[in-house]
Amino acid sequence: MKKVAYPGTFDPFTNGHKDIVERALGIFDEITVLVSTPPQKKLMIDATKRVELIQEVFANNKKVRVDSWDGLTVDYLKKNNIEYIVRGLRPTGDFDIEFQLASMNKSLYEKLETVFLTATNKYYYTSSSLIREIHSHGGDVSSYVPEVVNRYLKNK
Ligand code: ADP
Repeated sequence: MKKVAYPGTFDPFTNGHKDIVERALGIFDEITVLVSTPPQKKLMIDATKRVELIQEVFANNKKVRVDSWDGLTVDYLKKNNIEYIVRGLRPTGDFDIEFQLASMNKSLYEKLETVFLTATNKYYYTSSSLIREIHSHGGDVSSYVPEVVNRYLKNK
């Protein structure tokens, strides 16, 4: 069984992230969405809630697992026998940092391969940071996030 991890902050989980999960399942048998909490980032939603929301989005899909991890991603992967990472690439400046991360992870864990899926064009400009910005000013983000996330944000 080919397992892949999709690590990220997902603050909040967007339709762009959901698209990557669904497309990765065309290649892999099981995906673990791995929620991290980088200490340098100011977060809108706590990790427990981010995990719960993503679980709700994929409640009907047994191939999607959701977990959180605050250590090194490679340590989680080794512990769980996962040898692949999937990440999304938007044409808005993701490449340099993604290349750096993938190269560093590879040097920390030789077996690991990072697979990149190019963003679907309707999600090119969807980013968690813009959604946080719009939401903080009371704007409508329903076009950019799954229904469960939108409902949570509206009530927050
Ligand atoms: P991180 O803080 O680790 O970058 P994010 O939650 O911002 O976490 O993103 C996780 C991954 O999803 C990254 O690889 C990012 O490039 C990708 N991603 C984010 N938004 C989109 C999108 N709209 N379409 C495709 N991939 C995306």
